[in-house]
Amino acid sequence: MPRVSRALSLLPLAFASAVFAADAKRIAVTIDDVPAASATAISTGETARLNEQLLAALKRHGVKAVGFVNEDRLLVPGHVDDGIAVLTAWLKAGMELGNHNFGHVGLWQSSREDVEAAVLKGEVLTRWLTREHQAPLRYYRHPYTQTGRTEADRAAFETFLAAHGYTVAPMTIEHDDYFFACVYDHLGAPHEAARRQTVADEYDAHLRTSVRVFETMSQELLGRQVPQILLIHANRLNADTLDRTLTTLAELGYTFVPLDEALRDEAYRLPARASGRFGPSWLARWARAQGVKLSVYGQPDPEGRTAPWHAQLCSR
Ligand SMILES: [Zn+2]
Repeated sequence: MPRVSRALSLLPLAFASAVFAADAKRIAVTIDDVPAASATAISTGETARLNEQLLAALKRHGVKAVGFVNEDRLLVPGHVDDGIAVLTAWLKAGMELGNHNFGHVGLWQSSREDVEAAVLKGEVLTRWLTREHQAPLRYYRHPYTQTGRTEADRAAFETFLAAHGYTVAPMTIEHDDYFFACVYDHLGAPHEAARRQTVADEYDAHLRTSVRVFETMSQELLGRQVPQILLIHANRLNADTLDRTLTTLAELGYTFVPLDEALRDEAYRLPARASGRFGPSWLARWARAQGVKLSVYGQPDPEGRTAPWHAQLCSR
């Protein structure tokens, strides 16, 4: 469009940089399934190390992330102190904790009443520790990001969350980390180092592809770049690669912001209907609620060598 380019080229420099600043790309980082999600057995010692690695990478990049806790994963007989130590490490590192419910029960397979019970059962340790550290406990992340079977269910559940002081934590970017992580978990033996590296490399490539897709969705729907919210999980893969992931995001032009800052953007006030079974990016939910047609609705399926390894190692 030569006329537009011509007009832009005539803008005074100060105004041009204001345009750029308004469009600066921001991203909040959220990590689900704290203390750890693993496709294979994981000890409390390895869980502690994995969380230390995650926290070190976050601190190195100045990221204030929210970790969403499944307290059932902390209540390991004989190791409850280890679980408390993991949550304490998050708070001491200046991170925030949120609720991801007890048992990771979703609103598709379980009734709203059962999920509500899991929310309350899943906040006991976290509420105690956040109070001890004068930290807030204000966000809830739906397991599987399922927000309800029906609109009535979604609305009733969100009323319940609000009554208990919780704000829903949406997400706009995910890049199938659980898919790559399952393969990575199964390649733990020392002689598998080369294949683990391939998975890590393909995971980074998939992040780059996925970010481009979600930026396209934001541009088509909102005409600008929304502050994105990345969802990843506490797992071995991210423990080993979070530093690289954050470096990649910075390279792609992102500034890291806390979740509360991202949520102040007016886009997060847009309606999003009950998800049903599948929980896509909020960008797709907003588009669907508005009846806006986008050219893409989420990241492509992972390809490369990880995909056949996944079929081989992770199929039940
Ligand atoms: Zn989860």
